[in-house]
Amino acid sequence: LRGYKRRVFVSIHKRPVAMAVQRTFSILKPDVTRRNLTGAVNARIEAAGLRIIAQKRVHMTRAQAETFYGVHRERPFFGELVEMMTAAPVVVQVLEGEDAILAYRAVMGATNPEKADAGTIRKDFAISMGENSVHGSDAPETAAQEIAQWFAGNEIVG
Ligand code: ADP
Repeated sequence: LRGYKRRVFVSIHKRPVAMAVQRTFSILKPDVTRRNLTGAVNARIEAAGLRIIAQKRVHMTRAQAETFYGVHRERPFFGELVEMMTAAPVVVQVLEGEDAILAYRAVMGATNPEKADAGTIRKDFAISMGENSVHGSDAPETAAQEIAQWFAGNEIVG
């Protein structure tokens, strides 16, 4: 099945219930690759019921990082963010699952790891507000844009 979103119907007590199978874009940030934690973070992703349907390791260029985080261009931390994202390789991924965007945000935890819930990736692995281990799309539109920035259609095998 192709397409960004598809619906799967399951029958509970003979009443069909629609569950949205969705895709989201994920990055394992430089603090994860540097500390050799890609497997540990992927284990958390898979334990949350998300499937890694595309994945590659890339060293972002400055231009790629500036485009990716363009929405933050005017923020005081933008320079630091671009430096951090280009300092070491990252792993870019497409994740698929039921309500994948929210499901991944839940397992990621809050942006500030000190405020992240127990058991989340950021609570357990992040170093700081900047080096917070993972990126996950925040809405269907941004997920589609981010996936298209990093993957050709034939690299995504759902
Ligand atoms: P999220 O990644 O949780 O969606 P944002 O979109 O607000 O968070 O920010 C994007 C990224 O910018 C964060 O994940 C983090 O790496 C970095 N960042 C955000 N706020 C700060 C800050 N105050 N200081 C340093 N880096 C920050």
